Amino acid sequence: MTTGSPARTRTHRRGRSPAVRTLLVVGAVAALLAVALVVVPLLRPPGPRPLFQLPVPCGETWRLSTYPGHDDYDVDLFPATGEAWGRPVLASYAGTVTEAGINGSLGGRTPDDPDGPRGLGGGHWVKIDHGGRWETQYLHLLEPPLVRVGQRVAQGEQLGRVGSTGNSGAPHLHYEQRRGWEKVETWFDGAPSGITVDDTEQTVERRSHNCAPDRRGPA
Ligand SMILES: [Zn+2]
Repeated sequence: MTTGSPARTRTHRRGRSPAVRTLLVVGAVAALLAVALVVVPLLRPPGPRPLFQLPVPCGETWRLSTYPGHDDYDVDLFPATGEAWGRPVLASYAGTVTEAGINGSLGGRTPDDPDGPRGLGGGHWVKIDHGGRWETQYLHLLEPPLVRVGQRVAQGEQLGRVGSTGNSGAPHLHYEQRRGWEKVETWFDGAPSGITVDDTEQTVERRSHNCAPDRRGPA
């Protein structure tokens, strides 16, 4: 009763080992490749902060604000003068578009019906990868973005227009800067905005220097 079993097991094992070993090797190589291609780039330290500009046209003054419950570092932009509806939203810095579509649901807030049904999330939105693990995002746009995923954009290139889609009370641009996996304080033209926490209402005024120097070309 005890003599046949080990022999059968040995035979069995000898027969399957090469295939199993091959599978293990292939699996290990695939896992190493996955680590090399996906995980390592995410672990490398972020690059230096790009010289972000305000995401609105050069020379305009906008109010940057936050309020309790907004989320730390998030900035809502309202023009200091004039209507917010339809104002151009520009890329803060050159990069590649990684999101351009609908986040959540649009709702029904338009210039003709500003108190229409409120949507969810970001509404029409754009996200840009600036390299070095730096990203910016632009929410609540009026219409589908003017850019598409994979497109290269220059600093100052128009992404869309200010609206009130998604979870938005009034027309404005919700804007974020991200480094790696975390949101960080927004900086514009080399200076921090000062908006770091959402425990109180806060507003600062800044003038845009988004004059698209990299599109002027050589003199
Ligand atoms: Zn916001």
